[in-house]
Amino acid sequence: MNTTNRQQIALISVHGDPAVDIGGEEAGGQNVYVRQVGEALAQLGWDVDMFTRQTDANQSRWVQHQDYCRTIRITAGPETFIPRQEILDHAERFVEEVIRFCREQQRSYALMHTNYWISAWVGLELRRRLAVPMVHTYHSLGAVKYQATQEPPHTATRRLEIEKSCLETAECIVSTSPQERESLRSLVSSRGTIEIIPCGTDIEQFGSVSYQQAREQLGISPEEKVIYYVGRFDPRKGIETLVRAVHRSQMRGKVPMRLIIAGGYKPGQSDGDEKERITQIVQELGLADITEFPGRISDEKMPVYYAAADVCVVPSHYEPFGLVPIEAMASGTPVVGSAVGGLNFTVVSEETGILVPPKDDQAFANAIDRILSDPQWRNELSKNARKRMEEKFSWEGVASQLSDLYRRIIKGQQYGEADA
Ligand code: UDP
Repeated sequence: MNTTNRQQIALISVHGDPAVDIGGEEAGGQNVYVRQVGEALAQLGWDVDMFTRQTDANQSRWVQHQDYCRTIRITAGPETFIPRQEILDHAERFVEEVIRFCREQQRSYALMHTNYWISAWVGLELRRRLAVPMVHTYHSLGAVKYQATQEPPHTATRRLEIEKSCLETAECIVSTSPQERESLRSLVSSRGTIEIIPCGTDIEQFGSVSYQQAREQLGISPEEKVIYYVGRFDPRKGIETLVRAVHRSQMRGKVPMRLIIAGGYKPGQSDGDEKERITQIVQELGLADITEFPGRISDEKMPVYYAAADVCVVPSHYEPFGLVPIEAMASGTPVVGSAVGGLNFTVVSEETGILVPPKDDQAFANAIDRILSDPQWRNELSKNARKRMEEKFSWEGVASQLSDLYRRIIKGQQYGEADA
């Protein structure tokens, strides 16, 4: 297909750069989502530009991922990392620069898909000024997040307003789980159109290594029980609950056990502070000799770590969707997770893992012990988990549902579900 046949679309992810290494501060699920969706949409025949904010003067302005799929970095505000709460101050500039880019490069988008509330503001402006239809994915909802937060940030009110106006104005909201859709309706607005399309995972990459091979590669003996966490060091991820649960485990001391807490952090930044806090709890509880912190795991090593684990624990206080649990399940590793948000949708308790109340150390300990003490049941959970991911959560499947939605919106055909 040549360029003239392809329709141009823009994915907008102001704070989550799809072209950076994943696993450090401010680089997590959203970056993965935008990159994977962008690349898969290009495969499906779209011409995809992914816009993000330049956060380092040395970064290249454009990154070509493959034919018809590139990241474009926009200068809006300082070319350094700034916390999310401050990015909105530069959103106006971001809009101006995108419009300038479109003019100079003669780009005309048939549709844009925005990600997270900061990009929602940008999208609403672009929609107003360029009359481009808009699809939005929240990734995280202020209305839910602030329920679990003691001190909401100063941007909270603004965020809630933008999230509401986005739901009521955008052509369609892509909700990644029925639970998120429910929260949108009960906490944000009864107006606006929603379609449910989940997040996906690379089911070829995850699942490419067997349990035995993975253990050989990482030098872990067959007798050892491996409990695995991977993700950002952020208090809302509940790593403390996991550490306390391992301390309470009845298996500890009876079988060789290893707790791996993986994910990038930078000393002096907020993830570095959380890593320090967790390390202290590990030491206080006398778990230092069974705990390791391997840091950021590269893309190549990710499937190996998941596959080597007996159980992957996702103890989040709040998790809008959660890519880690689906990556683990695609790798055939059962998940013990909090019964919150997207996990209620992706993990089927007692079939692909076990869900327990968030922050409940004892419940996490019991669930982990049940899986570790019954290898046969673990294998059953493992098979079910892999099957569920193959059937419902591949990126190709997700992108083809998005592609179909975009086409219906562009053609003015029926889509989504409006409740009011
Ligand atoms: N990740 C990674 N390397 C790491 C830590 C995390 O590649 O060291 C990836 C992980 O595989 C997943 C994403 O970061 O794809 C985290 O997404 P999730 O939705 O679980 O959490 P978020 O960070 O968005 O809250």
